[in-house]
Amino acid sequence: MIANNPTRSHMPHGGSTRRSNELEHPMNVSASINVLRLLANPTLCLPHYTVSTFDQLPVPLSSACSKYGTEKGPDIRAVVLDKDNCFAVPKQNSVYPAYSAKFDELRKAYPDSRLLIVSNSAGTSSDKGYQEADLLERNTGVKVLRHTTKKPGCHAEIMSHFRNAPETGVTASNQVAIVGDRLFTDVLMANMMGSHSVWIKDGVVPDHGLLSRVEKGLSGFLLRRGYAAPNPRSDFE
Ligand SMILES: [Mg+2]
Repeated sequence: MIANNPTRSHMPHGGSTRRSNELEHPMNVSASINVLRLLANPTLCLPHYTVSTFDQLPVPLSSACSKYGTEKGPDIRAVVLDKDNCFAVPKQNSVYPAYSAKFDELRKAYPDSRLLIVSNSAGTSSDKGYQEADLLERNTGVKVLRHTTKKPGCHAEIMSHFRNAPETGVTASNQVAIVGDRLFTDVLMANMMGSHSVWIKDGVVPDHGLLSRVEKGLSGFLLRRGYAAPNPRSDFE
């Protein structure tokens, strides 16, 4: 994750610096480029629903996002979970013990392929031989997406997973909720793909890094001025 180490963050300090950082850390190009979308539409970083920690998630998630659905409410058929500082201590590949009951509740509500872990560590090119992803799957019983592009750029790979699992009933991205602790990766991706975004604001361990402070500063600024997250839509399909 780029988030926990401010020295590796990719906020645009200036054109030449940003380009050289991207060359040194090619895996983070997705985050760097897509954060620029926020300049055109800052509300892309605003979540539809916010909780402090993972164990406060409402299940089913459609109950939380009710104001963003049709008259019947949103039709959330599948859930994507971030790992680091969402349901796990960063760099650990197991559910944080205090969250195990909530994790099991989610597995029951979204069985089999309806629950998917999409991490920017386990299951990416930084995960040699996908050893972390394999361990995480054994520890959680939940599929970990192997993806070539990091969040927020991997929405096509996420939707491909759901399309290949017809039992999920997912035919459109507004039937998916994305849960994570990062506004510039998890929430930005959810809004770019037209899904529901659920922000874990505080996570397992406090994050006082530069990126976290920028995220919270920008979202607070926008919310105080009356901005809101864009409505989930499915023109991505
Ligand atoms: Mg995270």
